[in-house]
Amino acid sequence: MEIFGMKVEKGQKTFGNVKVGELANFTDISIPVLVARGSHDGPTLWMTGAVHGDELNGLWGMRKFFWDLDTSKLHGNVVLTPLLNTMAFVDRNKISQVDYLDLDQQFPGNPGGSYTERIAHIVFGEMKKWANYVIDFHTMGHVFSATPYTVSKIVPGAKAETVQAAFKLARAFGVYPNCHLNLAKAGGELPGTTSGSIDILCMQNNIPCFMAEMGAGGRWDEKVIQTILAGIQNAMTHIGLLTGEFKKPDKQLIITGRRFLRSNRGGLVRMAVEPGQFVKKGEKLASIYDFWEEREQLVADKNMFMIATRFEPVVSTGDRMGFVGYEWQEMDWDTD
Ligand SMILES: [Zn+2]
Repeated sequence: MEIFGMKVEKGQKTFGNVKVGELANFTDISIPVLVARGSHDGPTLWMTGAVHGDELNGLWGMRKFFWDLDTSKLHGNVVLTPLLNTMAFVDRNKISQVDYLDLDQQFPGNPGGSYTERIAHIVFGEMKKWANYVIDFHTMGHVFSATPYTVSKIVPGAKAETVQAAFKLARAFGVYPNCHLNLAKAGGELPGTTSGSIDILCMQNNIPCFMAEMGAGGRWDEKVIQTILAGIQNAMTHIGLLTGEFKKPDKQLIITGRRFLRSNRGGLVRMAVEPGQFVKKGEKLASIYDFWEEREQLVADKNMFMIATRFEPVVSTGDRMGFVGYEWQEMDWDTD
């Protein structure tokens, strides 16, 4: 197996920095790549992270997973690109200041394009060649607190069996909330209908892929990192890369409609709800204050499940106060 020019023998791990460009000051821009080839044949799972540079929990989860992994027990291969957007990472930002493009809107990339388009091209070329499954680690933005959840998409043009395999893999990961979105219907949300993302391109190329949205950006969250480690183990067992115990989740929430809640007024926000909480229509979500009065009270206009709530207290008109599911079904794991 030779990937990004790195040779990997059976039962071995290899790793290195892969050059993706150069800066004006003559230094290389590179991304870390880690590959584990099992002692036994099997499929290749590719896990990728920090396509948005400030989304950090996946990085540490993948690093720990890789060094704990015993390749003598691995049936297949694991490829990790834990830090795709290195320049945005340096900026502690979602996008880089090299060309201000969102890397997760540039796939499959362009070899003659700008910096970010070229990274997408280099990575997706290898991904298409090797990956049988992809898990794409994200977080919510750094202004939020968020409960870990997955996102699998019904992508127009993708095969039904690919859509089903991605949905099952996402559920096997084992967290309670799982968004399953029909892109033909999803409108007005972010990222929702965004084209050029890793998961959409994978799905269009018959590679089941889901997004693991693991907590919030700009910080480590140890509980979330533990969720990531358990989820990777579960997903790998589900697709046969590992044998052993598969920890079936109990009930799962399948969210088919979701949206952001936004403020109308500016000021300082005090949230009345927490991520992971169900809220009934009419219940208070948040208040926005100045130094004299309560300027706005946000109330749930329907029953909601809080995926994320605002962590950072400073808001202007139209800022995002929360991210909620408003259409869902609670299901047993077995009865999909
Ligand atoms: Zn992201």
